[in-house]
Amino acid sequence: MATSLIPLSSSFLQPLKFKTLAKPRTPLNLSTTRKTITTCDSQNKNTEASSNPSSRNPNFQKRRKSSKYGTSRRSILKKSFLQEQVTFTARVSEDPQVAIIGGGMAGLVCALNLEARGVKSTVFDTGIHGLGGRLGTRFVEPQGLVFDHAAQFFTADDSRFIQYVDGWLEKGLVREWKGAVGELEVGGSFTQFPSSSPPKYIAVNGMRSLADSLLLESRLANVVRPCWISKLEPLNGMWHLSENGTPRGQFDVIVIAHNGKCANRLLSASGLPLVAKQMKKLDLSSIWALLAAFNDPLPTVNFEGAFVKGIESLSWMGNNSAKLGNGGTPHCWTFFSTAAYGKQNKVPQENIPTVTSEKVRAGMLQGVEIALGLPEGSLPKPVYTRLQLWGAALPKNTPAVPCIFDPQGRAGICGDWLLGSNLESAAISGEALGNHIADYLQNSEADPEEFAIGLHDWPSPLAGHDIGQFPGLTSVGEKQEAEAYQLL
Ligand SMILES: Cc1cc2nc3c(=O)[nH]c(=O)nc-3n(C[C@H](O)[C@H](O)[C@H](O)COP(=O)(O)OP(=O)(O)OC[C@H]3O[C@@H](n4cnc5c(N)ncnc54)[C@H](O)[C@@H]3O)c2cc1C
Repeated sequence: MATSLIPLSSSFLQPLKFKTLAKPRTPLNLSTTRKTITTCDSQNKNTEASSNPSSRNPNFQKRRKSSKYGTSRRSILKKSFLQEQVTFTARVSEDPQVAIIGGGMAGLVCALNLEARGVKSTVFDTGIHGLGGRLGTRFVEPQGLVFDHAAQFFTADDSRFIQYVDGWLEKGLVREWKGAVGELEVGGSFTQFPSSSPPKYIAVNGMRSLADSLLLESRLANVVRPCWISKLEPLNGMWHLSENGTPRGQFDVIVIAHNGKCANRLLSASGLPLVAKQMKKLDLSSIWALLAAFNDPLPTVNFEGAFVKGIESLSWMGNNSAKLGNGGTPHCWTFFSTAAYGKQNKVPQENIPTVTSEKVRAGMLQGVEIALGLPEGSLPKPVYTRLQLWGAALPKNTPAVPCIFDPQGRAGICGDWLLGSNLESAAISGEALGNHIADYLQNSEADPEEFAIGLHDWPSPLAGHDIGQFPGLTSVGEKQEAEAYQLL
């Protein structure tokens, strides 16, 4: 397969105008490649440093040199808003390559949709053990413990997402969670969601197994992990990606499929002020996750998963062993705090002080005891615990656009937060951006500005559970209230 790269002129600065999206006019005719799974170490070292950045804009270069790369929120903000827009003016390559930075649900579905349209992509992800991001599973050996430590289950309401779920069901990647799931009031009163509730889906071998399976059959999508893309540079008409100074390839289009501090840093000096500004509007919650294994079943428990009401240190408890049908012992539980508790006890997630971890662990286990209505100090001692802070857990606001795309900078964003706070939103956003980029690449003759999307939308607050939204799943209380209202 030959890859022809057309030499491109240097970019120049110009303001953006926005029009509505054009319909695709010509089909893509792109050749195929075989899928390879590589880690960063085995990536080919290419020629990132050979181009002269000052050819873009000498003033821009000068300003970048004079300001030290800072990581404080203030300096990131300042950099984001001061940077000038990069504009690619020449045609994209004949065989375009898209870099997707983030291998969570959104990035993976984006790659799948690019593939369906004949476009090659490379997904970069930080995951050491696998893909998935917040679709994560922790395996603890040699004890054989399994914990879903972010997404617990999902519902499917949107017809596009239902299609994916049907496909995953067919392939045996997911199945319905038939165990008792509902709401738990302080004192141990559990109410199961009624049988009329929408099906609750789980991945058969833990949530991460779904993420790891999605691109296995792909021919046009490469996966590179673990890899933390730390720099994006627009040079000579291509995006050059690097990881701590090591080149990770050059691409026609980039996709930011992650959010939070990491994305803000990456975008702060990229030449994408509009994209950076949209990302900066995102507000995220923090959630503590406590993984705990017990030798014996927890007393009084008659459910597999429960949204906990009325306790600040606890918003969810789920029994992974029962859910995944692992049976036997130990019993692996995932406990999540509320977002309010996460905020109160927020610390740097990569460096949790011992005093905080001890306080939070004790607080959450006490929450479990109170939720189950157990006498003080009677909760069995876990044989294993692991505490984790999801510092950028769930979006608290959304612009409610399926994706963001800056055609001048050839850069897009997908992710749950653009539509909601769940796997369904992430998948739909990934699909939307994949198709949008394919439309853009297919319409090389069209005015690029027609492809600008989501660059000026304002976010509004998001409602939902502390651990996200579950489309179609109504709170037991709300449902009873609605039924009582109907009887009047
Ligand atoms: C505690 C918790 C519980 C949840 N429970 C549920 C639930 O039960 N049901 C549900 O539907 N949803 C749930 N969610 C929400 C759901 O997990 C997310 O909506 C969804 O997984 C988001 O997918 P995403 O692709 O947008 O982002 P992510 O999953 O966050 O993926 C982004 C990926 O990008 C990677 N990355 C970041 N920076 C870089 C970089 N510079 N270079 C390379 N890679 C990078 C990250 O490591 C990550 O793998 C929960 C979330 C949390 C935190």
